[in-house]
Amino acid sequence: MKNFDPATNLQELKQFGEFGGVNPSITDSATYTFFGADKMLDTFHGETQGCFLYSRHWNPTNKYLAEALASMEGTESAWVTASGMGAITSAILQLVNSGDHILASETTYGGTYAFLKNYLPKFNIEVTFVNPTDLNQIRNSIKENTKIVYTEMMSNPLLQIANIPEIAKITKDTNAKLMVDNTFTPMIFSPAKLGADIVVYSMTKFINGKNDCVAGAICGSEEYINSLISVNDGTAMLLGPVIDPLRSSSILKNLYTLHIRMQKHSANAAFMAEKFAEMGIRAIYPGLKSHPGHELMTSMFNKEYGYGGMIAIDLETPERAAKFMESMQNKGVGYLAVSLGYFRTLFSNSGKSTSSEIPEERQKAMGMSPGLVRFSMGLDHDMEKTAQLIKEAYESI
Ligand code: PLP
Repeated sequence: MKNFDPATNLQELKQFGEFGGVNPSITDSATYTFFGADKMLDTFHGETQGCFLYSRHWNPTNKYLAEALASMEGTESAWVTASGMGAITSAILQLVNSGDHILASETTYGGTYAFLKNYLPKFNIEVTFVNPTDLNQIRNSIKENTKIVYTEMMSNPLLQIANIPEIAKITKDTNAKLMVDNTFTPMIFSPAKLGADIVVYSMTKFINGKNDCVAGAICGSEEYINSLISVNDGTAMLLGPVIDPLRSSSILKNLYTLHIRMQKHSANAAFMAEKFAEMGIRAIYPGLKSHPGHELMTSMFNKEYGYGGMIAIDLETPERAAKFMESMQNKGVGYLAVSLGYFRTLFSNSGKSTSSEIPEERQKAMGMSPGLVRFSMGLDHDMEKTAQLIKEAYESI
């Protein structure tokens, strides 16, 4: 029998519009009518199936997208947000109280790092940062009051791979939930199937793939997702990071091409990794045998989607990185821009951009060079041409 496959699960989902439209209809309403006043109270308490109350809670269009994400992820349920940070912060805050502790990977996206490091301590929530690949450190750092172990599936920007089955074994008999950010590797990894309790996404990246909006998602058990939207104490309901239904409708349509896009992003990054090797440049790419997470990734991923579209090389100094990136942009390789998962290639110097919230000495300690250039490989058809332009840009500095 075939293993869990996110794209096939999505393919098997039946959704269509109320007038038979092949795309689910967009519900462009903030509030909803009730035929009887008693139904309203029941709906308020979450006791009426199929009734909608208010769009900060649930909107039918958002529900279609959430259902599709849950089936792609293999979770019971999901909820969609207006940004990745909206998803991450709501998902975390739902599980912690003042006096609790979180164990987090030190190599997360800078915004997540800043939230954990600078924001949560205001509420007396302690965070310990650990190396996500050091299982002993994770095991020894869990405390009685640890409520979350947080990691990225493939870390930003060093592309380290977290051993989710082993971390799940560690958290299993503790009070901690394992929360995994799978933004870099949708479909490539199915973290919930590997043992994660909660999977979070910035859909701004690969899932939407068009760079025309910011959006996020939280996938998990029915009980957990319902707790997020509880009218009494749900962070999603009370902090209000809900996404607009017009946006969730367009993301849903893009979700159905995600499997093809991930395959092409991965193929292009793998091609470039080989070209860098030919040029004598050491690339950080999990598809290379030289990558420390290669074997682990090979043992856990959904292999038909490849090793991902992210690749990084070391230009040693921010100045050389800047010249290289400007030259690539001038030659038309892609754009000098943060973010990832776009159909055009994007590149940025991580230490001066998406990881700039992480202090320099910490960047150094975790092995992040100040000249690291991170690429999100686009969907280019002629990769020989792209590789030639990157080579010329490299040789010009
Ligand atoms: N998680 C990761 C891995 C990211 O790279 C980002 C953004 O760059 C986020 C979360 C935050 O997402 P958003 O920008 O959609 O709020």
